[in-house]
This record gives sequence, structure tokens and C-alpha cells, in this order.
Amino acid sequence: MTILEIVKHPSPILTTPCEEVTVFDKKLGTLLDDMHETMMENDGVGIAAPQIGKSIRVAIVDFDEEQDVIEMINPVVTATGGSEVDVEGCLSFPGLFGEVERPFFVRIEAQERDGKLYELEAEGYEARAILHEIDHLNGILFDKKIQRIVDPSEFEEEEDDE
Ligand SMILES: [Zn+2]
Repeated sequence: MTILEIVKHPSPILTTPCEEVTVFDKKLGTLLDDMHETMMENDGVGIAAPQIGKSIRVAIVDFDEEQDVIEMINPVVTATGGSEVDVEGCLSFPGLFGEVERPFFVRIEAQERDGKLYELEAEGYEARAILHEIDHLNGILFDKKIQRIVDPSEFEEEEDDE
């Protein structure tokens, strides 16, 4: 596996809506493996393809060791509910953390690496991470949604980048 370079803000690819994935081949699987490796290397809990320089609708969320990695290809939000404010970071914004309001619950439809369609429901921080990554695929960055910037010393070691 290869550690890829993270695209940092400001870069036009980060604010460009991504293209739908239509080919589910071995190359896509390799890309997902490399994205996961890159995310882990950078202590992230999520990563989207534009963050490694590919403008395609592919993203990963993995913040809980007990759970399988969530691979999202062409994800679509089909329902949301509630609302919650919590602290987020982003691999493309090193050192920036802030409070962002997001739905507490989300339901998505997405494809697996072999193209198989699946549905997933999540809540709390998992829902937040999923929505943060889907925003990336639409060229939307979290800095515009921050209500209050948080100094990392406020939450010490418990934070993770997305
Ligand atoms: Zn991000």
C-alpha cells in the first residue's frame, strides 16, 4: 500500500464537486486501500478522494476499531434527523478545530468497492464523520460551517482529524 499526499486547503480540487464512479475495478480497490492507509498514517477518522487529489465520489470513515471500515462510493444522503454540535477537524486543515452543527442521525445509500449497493444508518460522531466526508465530495469544506473555533488544548488528546 502507498501513503498518498494529502491535499491541503486552499486548493481548487477541494471545492470542486466530484464525479460519479462508474468503473468498479481493481484500481478502485487499490485506491481505497491507499486512502485508508493514508488516513491511518495521519491519525484521521475519515478521508475523501479529493483530499488525495482525485475528484471522484469515494470516501472512507473509520473511527471505531470495533467496527468495519465504511467505504462509501457514490454516497447519497437519504434521510437525516436531529441535530448536534461537536468538534471537528480535517486532514486538509492541519491545526484547525471547530464546533460544527450537524444532524444527529443519517441514512445513506452508497456502493461498495465491487459496486454493490448498500444502505447504512448512523448516529452521533459516526453520522458526523459520514456527513463531513460526503460534504467533501460536493466540494463543501467544514471551515465554512464552524460556529466556534476550538483550541486543541480544550480537548487535549481525545480529538481526531477527519
Ligand atoms: Zn475533511
